[in-house]
Amino acid sequence: MISIDRPTADLGDVRVTNRAAVLRHVRRHAPCSRADVAAHTGLNKATVSSLVAELIEHGMLRETGLTENRVGRPATMLVLDGSRYAGLGLRVGADELVAVAAGPGGDPVLTWRRAFPAATAGPEETVKALAALVRRAVTRIGADRTVLGLTVAVPGLVDPDGDVPAAPALGWRGVPLAASVRRALRDRGFPVAVDTEANLAVLAERRHGPYAATTDLVHLTGGPAIGAGLISGGRLLRGGRGFAGDVGHLPLAADGPSCDCGRRGCLTALLGVDAVIRRLLPDAGPVTDHLPEIERIQALARAGDEPVRTGLTEIGRLLGQAASVLSGLLDPEVVVVGGHLAALAPWLLPAAHAELAARTPVPPGVRLEASTLGSAAGALGGATAALATVEAGRLPAG
Ligand SMILES: [Zn+2]
Repeated sequence: MISIDRPTADLGDVRVTNRAAVLRHVRRHAPCSRADVAAHTGLNKATVSSLVAELIEHGMLRETGLTENRVGRPATMLVLDGSRYAGLGLRVGADELVAVAAGPGGDPVLTWRRAFPAATAGPEETVKALAALVRRAVTRIGADRTVLGLTVAVPGLVDPDGDVPAAPALGWRGVPLAASVRRALRDRGFPVAVDTEANLAVLAERRHGPYAATTDLVHLTGGPAIGAGLISGGRLLRGGRGFAGDVGHLPLAADGPSCDCGRRGCLTALLGVDAVIRRLLPDAGPVTDHLPEIERIQALARAGDEPVRTGLTEIGRLLGQAASVLSGLLDPEVVVVGGHLAALAPWLLPAAHAELAARTPVPPGVRLEASTLGSAAGALGGATAALATVEAGRLPAG
């Protein structure tokens, strides 16, 4: 809608805002006609026609053969196009790199997982591996699509410049990640950003999971360090320095296992993937690739292994306590758990739900659910974030 309280905004700004409103409406209500867009955005029909023509020309919208089933002249229907463009997301895990490319319509273009020991390789080698993966992905999709941006997801703290002051799960401190990735890629012609895995995962949940209409949503990441992505009132909460959601060292059990931070019973020391494997598979030894170990736990749980089942119930109870803390802080509608917590959800969630219900002052309280996006959630959110400027109404340069 045209903003009347910003008289100094030039016409370019207004057009960008209006373009975003048109895209947003089509994303939510496609297929829809130009008249629908005008009726719901408050823009006049001539403006909508002109914006739609421009968006079709730039490959952001396309017309379908469908017509609306109503009396009068049949209308040509519009849907998101985006087949000319892609956003790239890359997730750095402790033991893997995941790359996802997605189009503005949300269509997944590519998903790659590569085992890579980022935690032992160090930042320099990781940036090299990451840049190589990005180059391969751009080569693969570049013939058909222009890459509009890359966002890298990191399990740790990320400041607004894309520096990583600390990522204990990777053993990183003070890594200027965005600048290093830009340097390694030289000038590929698209912007590079870095954000926390939790922030990008919650973005992916809202866009690609079943929570599009949810304005108060938390994603609790699985993996070596537990983090939370927080959407409150429809907005991502970043906090003063960008570190909101760094809940990994929230103390849950004073007599719990010792944590890398030197204290005991932190969320990460109880629910992190290494803690869960150590507890349920005491014979596992040091783990470099978590996925096969989680699959072993799933197999044992399915087979009814008593110690594993009991352990999962106790971990589920702790998960319920963590969700109750988040619920008390933010009053979200849904807390979604990702990573290994999602993989083990069939055995964790019953105990977690019971614990949560017992701690809920006014039922029904928050819903606690498993993510359906798998280990690609952070990377998918990265691909989504990389498309943010076009979704905000800027025309793609490519
Ligand atoms: Zn700790």
